[in-house]
Amino acid sequence: MSIILIETDGLEGFKTGSIIKKIGQKGQDTCELFFDDVTVPAENLLGGVEGQGFIQLMSDLPYERILLAAAGVGAMEAAFDMTVEYTKDRKVFGQQLIDMQTSRHKLAELKTTVHIARVFVDNCIQRQLDGTADTTLASMAKYWVTDKQCEVIDACLQFFGGNGYTEEYPISQFYLDARVQRIYGGANEIMKEVISRSL
Ligand SMILES: Cc1cc2nc3c(=O)[nH]c(=O)nc-3n(C[C@H](O)[C@H](O)[C@H](O)COP(=O)(O)OP(=O)(O)OC[C@H]3O[C@@H](n4cnc5c(N)ncnc54)[C@H](O)[C@@H]3O)c2cc1C
Repeated sequence: MSIILIETDGLEGFKTGSIIKKIGQKGQDTCELFFDDVTVPAENLLGGVEGQGFIQLMSDLPYERILLAAAGVGAMEAAFDMTVEYTKDRKVFGQQLIDMQTSRHKLAELKTTVHIARVFVDNCIQRQLDGTADTTLASMAKYWVTDKQCEVIDACLQFFGGNGYTEEYPISQFYLDARVQRIYGGANEIMKEVISRSL
């Protein structure tokens, strides 16, 4: 397999399908790409050596997976912060939501999880910069952080009650956008397969 870069603007035989409607990440124009009898310029071979495509795609995977984990922790932090604000503002049964011990304890658990995720991701980023990040580390980061992202955001949404289920409150967007994180970039089950190869 080789990778050849092509300029698709006005390219004969190239067309895109209509935008696929997704439940989240609606800002992304996800669609099918069709290449029918497209002539490719051989001089645009990536790297200049034939047969390197698979290696080139594989070598970028740790970077991509750490990137997904970094996006995951960012989303968790933002969702957590807006949830704390909401619980300080929302009054139920005569007291602020945050003044109930069950709320505070849940928020304490979430804060701890978010902090652990941040420390782990920062370590992965440092190792990516040092050139010591490998597939195992990146797969651990991708699966663990995105699993936690969905758990944390689900718990955050619960604090918003019915408001959290409406589009008026951004927490619902965080919830919908998070779900695909466990699927793309390699499903989290595949990440565990990859990690287990290092045992
Ligand atoms: C919004 C979006 C953007 C995407 N962007 C890109 C992109 O930019 N580039 C790209 O290449 N791809 C992209 N994808 C594709 C994505 O990487 C795949 O959807 C994903 O890898 C899962 O593959 P699949 O959909 O074929 O699921 P399948 O392979 O059919 O798997 C379905 C489910 O089965 C389970 N499963 C599969 N294999 C195993 C196993 N060995 N052990 C245990 N359980 C297993 C998992 O739970 C998995 O989720 C994107 C997908 C989406 C939804």
